[in-house]
Amino acid sequence: MTETAKLPESYANLINVPRTSLLIDGRFQSSQSGKTFDSINPVTEEVIAQVAEGDAADIDLAVIAATNALQEGPWGKMDARERGRLMMKWADLIDQNQEAFARLEVLDNGKPIVEALGYDIPSAAATVRYFAGWADKLEGKTIPTSGPYFTHTRREPVGVCGLIIPWNFPLAMAAWKLGPALAAGCTTILKPAEQTPLTALWAGELALEAGIPPGVINIVPGYGETAGAALVKHPGVDKIAFTGEHTTGQIIKAATTDTMKRMTFELGGKSPNIVFDDANLDEAVDGAFGAIFLNQGQNCCAGSRAFVHESIYTEFVEKLADKASRRVIGDPFNPGTEHGPQIDRAQFDKIMQYIELGRQQGAQCVSGGQRVFDRGYFIAPTVFSEVKDDMAIATDEIFGPVLSILKFSSTDEVISRANDTQFGLSSAVWTQDIDKAYTVTEGLKAGTVWINCYNIVDPAAPFGGFKMSGLGRELGEQALDAYTETKTVTQLRK
Ligand code: ADP
Repeated sequence: MTETAKLPESYANLINVPRTSLLIDGRFQSSQSGKTFDSINPVTEEVIAQVAEGDAADIDLAVIAATNALQEGPWGKMDARERGRLMMKWADLIDQNQEAFARLEVLDNGKPIVEALGYDIPSAAATVRYFAGWADKLEGKTIPTSGPYFTHTRREPVGVCGLIIPWNFPLAMAAWKLGPALAAGCTTILKPAEQTPLTALWAGELALEAGIPPGVINIVPGYGETAGAALVKHPGVDKIAFTGEHTTGQIIKAATTDTMKRMTFELGGKSPNIVFDDANLDEAVDGAFGAIFLNQGQNCCAGSRAFVHESIYTEFVEKLADKASRRVIGDPFNPGTEHGPQIDRAQFDKIMQYIELGRQQGAQCVSGGQRVFDRGYFIAPTVFSEVKDDMAIATDEIFGPVLSILKFSSTDEVISRANDTQFGLSSAVWTQDIDKAYTVTEGLKAGTVWINCYNIVDPAAPFGGFKMSGLGRELGEQALDAYTETKTVTQLRK
């Protein structure tokens, strides 16, 4: 592992945080309680901003604002095409500020600037733009019902949407939810993750600048157990879209039974990445490497289980371990840095415990396995070989830079083992045999299968999970289903 130059003591000279208060009804404001919480930089561990801490009282205000914006404000009556035009303008403003957004994301999240500039910010703008194009294309159908009736369907906004997002891709996750919600004509209350509220707040300001009316996007930073839980329980909220841990998803699902809110969930994964002996080995190694180490492994579709055919296993492990040992780790603001810190102390501790457990349970740590630097939440890219299916590092979502490499011998066997998990988010297969690729694709129980590639996510392609990895789909045309209700209209013809 290559460390870049010494870490900075402080980012004081880079701290430039446009907005730190709640956005409700088009106005940035303090929380009702007056409380704030610290946003911590994961490299220097310094406080970079004190952010207004929303709770149930602020959620109440945000729900009133979102309801008014839908029922009385211009948004509810606006032409769909005009809605799309405002969204396009918002996407343009995000794009025009890509560099500054990327720096703010790095400051808040710690991800390498190359990733923030290469994926997070442009993909957020692209997602808003993609959904803007849908605003005037949400069509109903005419239905050939029996009798003297004319029946058609209308697609109407589901209403006020509570959007609860995680800290791993902060602005991109906001866009995944706000994009389809706004295209469908809904109004929203976004609760960013407590670790990373800053880019969403600034994007909210730019949405107002683009002309999206007050109350359409409300943003209430705060903790999950207070602000998040209040949003989930609120009777004035029609839908919750959640991305986060599957255990939080279970709590939220249980908490919405009485209000029968519409729900979509994008939860965790333990995604299999299957490498056959006829794969282009170097491409498969590179692919498996990016699959797990992108964003320090803090990725719900991380390819955390590499299943490698026994005849190439040793060579694959050697190449991958060597590559991991050369990953450039250090100051994420340095454009040469490939690997930054984990998000916070809690995640750091959890990942280090899993690494310890991997060793205790008999897996062989062939690269990494230790903390890097004596400050900041850095963990070396870690590769385990000789992993067995029932080891904790092969069954649990670690959400960190820890790859388990498992050995297989036949196609049927690997499909069955790949599916032997409660999750089903993503998967990949590496082979030059198209028949084999499709046999595996059909066999895998996962919302996404990549063939000879990994982590290719596009705003136009649906994304979501089988089994414990989620409910419903985000992105693509299918995402709009979750933000619309179908109304059937039948007229008697005399
Ligand atoms: P992670 O462990 O990756 O932070 P979480 O599932 O805890 O994942 O968090 C994802 C999002 O869910 C965050 O915005 C968090 O504040 C929120 N959250 C956590 N607990 C709850 C809850 N009980 N109700 C609603 N939202 C919650």
